[in-house]
Amino acid sequence: MICRHVLRQPMYLPSRLTIRSNSARLFSSSFKVLNKKNSDKPDGKGKNKELITKQPLNSDLEKFSPDLSSKVSKPTGGLPAIDAKLSDLMQEPNFQYDPKNNKLETSYEFHAPKSPSQTKNDQIKENHNKSRFKTMLPSLLVGVAIVWGFFTYDYLRENPNKDTDTELLRDDKFLSYLITFKHKIDDDHYLIELTRKNKGRSFTPYGKLFDGKKLWSIEIMQPDINIVRNYTPLPLYVAGVSPDTKEPHLKLITKSEEEGKFVIVVKRYNTGEFSRWLTNLNLLDEVKIRGPHTEHKIPFHPLDKYQDRPQLSSLLSNIEPDPIYPEEIPKPESFNFYGAGTGVMPLLQLLYSPNPPKGFIHAFISLEKESNLMDQFKTLNYFAEKCGRVKFTYLVSENNERLTPEYINKPTLPNFTGILDMKVSEAAHREKLLAQKKREIKNQIQGGGGTSSPSQVDEIDHLSQKPVIYNGLELIPKIQVSMKPDAKPKRFFFFNKGDDLPQPSFTFICGPENYISYISGKPQLNNLEGKDYGEIGGLLKDKGWGLYNIKRLL
Ligand SMILES: Cc1cc2nc3c(=O)[nH]c(=O)nc-3n(C[C@H](O)[C@H](O)[C@H](O)COP(=O)(O)OP(=O)(O)OC[C@H]3O[C@@H](n4cnc5c(N)ncnc54)[C@H](O)[C@@H]3O)c2cc1C
Repeated sequence: MICRHVLRQPMYLPSRLTIRSNSARLFSSSFKVLNKKNSDKPDGKGKNKELITKQPLNSDLEKFSPDLSSKVSKPTGGLPAIDAKLSDLMQEPNFQYDPKNNKLETSYEFHAPKSPSQTKNDQIKENHNKSRFKTMLPSLLVGVAIVWGFFTYDYLRENPNKDTDTELLRDDKFLSYLITFKHKIDDDHYLIELTRKNKGRSFTPYGKLFDGKKLWSIEIMQPDINIVRNYTPLPLYVAGVSPDTKEPHLKLITKSEEEGKFVIVVKRYNTGEFSRWLTNLNLLDEVKIRGPHTEHKIPFHPLDKYQDRPQLSSLLSNIEPDPIYPEEIPKPESFNFYGAGTGVMPLLQLLYSPNPPKGFIHAFISLEKESNLMDQFKTLNYFAEKCGRVKFTYLVSENNERLTPEYINKPTLPNFTGILDMKVSEAAHREKLLAQKKREIKNQIQGGGGTSSPSQVDEIDHLSQKPVIYNGLELIPKIQVSMKPDAKPKRFFFFNKGDDLPQPSFTFICGPENYISYISGKPQLNNLEGKDYGEIGGLLKDKGWGLYNIKRLL
């Protein structure tokens, strides 16, 4: 078998064999041999011609007749002369046969069979490649999972439902907050610290929210039943917890790094679905908040253009003194605040904010129990009293204290209602300076020993009609007496050290509906503008208060 195989498969031949090429080469070489033989015998030219005739060789041999006339001793030793055609053909130049130029060539691939060891090696290699894929499969899957995760994260990041806001609060959209502290103040009052989710970002500065220029609230949403309720944020955060009492140590928010937090105090009503849900939430539970909603804007006052009143501090000694405001500017407004229970929160928001109101506040707070208000709030309120900003009167039901007419002040006119008040205030200030100057001049004249002549006294009496000029400078300008304000003396009470406190020109009432009705009559808010058209009644009406100087916060 092997021999036959070897014979049939000439292994010594080049694998790519071109038959035409070889036969041509053989043909060419046989001609060369003939040519060489003939060239050795120059006389055999004619015989060679016969050799290349188309007749078979045997017939040529039969016809062969040697030339006996030749002088060659052995005539058989010579060859007949080469045929002229053949000779011409032999004269043609030898050319190299190039199989590539032969378009009709047929090629055959020869694949030697693999030896058993080679087959085995190939098998091993194939298995190895397969097993490498198998071992790499988990890594590939992990890689695919990472890429998928990355794209999913990227998609979620771009997801419009995802919280990408850098605002602390938005009044057109609910933003996510976390409950970062919850403390039970008493049976039905809870302190809750709320922190903006994604606090790593920088948010809209607090100054714009707690600015002492408005009373504002937030809306918290209950996602399951889709209802919202308002609550009053305080500019406080929990700085630590007492290990003994477990009471939080509250600090006022003053610096930007504390942004993203505030505190609310919630009263839990047994019949109140929302307050029960809110006070049942756990630490790090998420709530959706929208705001701020301005409940009342403090009207503009020219003193707003001057330095802010310093914020309170957890230490009395740390509170900066009030700036000295120019006397020719109208004095700040003073107001009453009547609050019940958590209705005190709007007042505390104003008092604890940076830039608290510059006027004086008469605060009457009704509580069911002493425990309703945290001691830390009472301490801060006491500090505010010591700074001459507020006077607190707490009326506690369990001590049989009630709000009675004796706690109701009479209203006064506001210090600033427009530009005319500015001019009046300037005029009053000049008059004050003038009176001071008159006293000085009188003292000089009388102190000099001489008695003043009637003309001199007249001159002094008429000073108020003329400007006081010294070295060409108008020290005290001429006063227009017609602008003398009627309530002028009251405007300077604030600077007197007497017992009288500045009179309020405005009153806030905040609490349950029956409390508000008792003090000021029933509010009427059923209109599109949300304005209070309810007639003023109750204790405030009796003292001369009207709709124009009352704000009922319900
Ligand atoms: C601007 C604004 C700010 C507010 N700030 C705070 C705050 O800082 N802290 C706080 O706890 N609440 C605050 N509230 C009240 C709060 O929005 C809810 O009305 C209160 O939590 C009760 O909701 P509820 O769903 O649990 O009770 P509801 O189901 O509305 O009422 C349940 C029962 O509780 C009584 N009730 C409801 N509200 C009062 C109330 N204020 N006084 C007495 N009885 C009431 C109802 O008459 C009823 O009998 C504020 C409200 C407004 C409008």
